[in-house]
Amino acid sequence: MKRHITTALLSAILLTAAAQQKETSAVFKLPPLPYQYDELEPYISRTTVKLHYDTHTRGYLDKANKILRKDTPDSISQNLAEIVRNSEGALYNNAAQAWNHIFYFDAFSPHAITEPGGKLMQQIEQQWGSFQNFKNTFAEAATGLFGSGWLWLVKQPDGQLAIIAESNAGKVLKSKSVPLLGIDVWEHAYYLDYQNRRAEHIDALWNIIDWRVVQKRFAGIPRP
Ligand code: MN
Repeated sequence: MKRHITTALLSAILLTAAAQQKETSAVFKLPPLPYQYDELEPYISRTTVKLHYDTHTRGYLDKANKILRKDTPDSISQNLAEIVRNSEGALYNNAAQAWNHIFYFDAFSPHAITEPGGKLMQQIEQQWGSFQNFKNTFAEAATGLFGSGWLWLVKQPDGQLAIIAESNAGKVLKSKSVPLLGIDVWEHAYYLDYQNRRAEHIDALWNIIDWRVVQKRFAGIPRP
């Protein structure tokens, strides 16, 4: 056996190291939640938040990263939202679900301001008559969506708001509308806490949806 590291072997090691570095640069990391697991209680339990973020959300992101590393050996210059916009199939499903979930969890706060203000409130009142009517319509759409999916409040290109119900991962980022609020109505989002009572779960969420976050999205201000 040769005891010396040959030049060829050394280059192979260096190449492997370079490839690993590229792999690392292709990985999207799950951001930390902006609150503790138990801080959304009693509306969403610690168990559900932990499972839903650390297991489900991380799982989608890990799968998307795995596909990206396999299919895209060069470093990724797109952000996660751009990957979602430009992909199909398994990469789309996993990247979109990862993005949806990060967006969903980011809208909650244990210190939520539970009503919008300013221009967003004006627009909601103009279109639905009152914030309460908007919430009722949103909840009806959520309970009316068959099977797994997402409820969105979006700002359309004409400036009008719309409530959109979509199955599975949906396709909100592929539309021309700007998502303002996304609510997960897959059973894993609420089954441990509410069993099959989706309407009761949606009703509870109004206590933790922070409309300051939604207003920033409405105004086009990116989150830090
Ligand atoms: Mn989910």
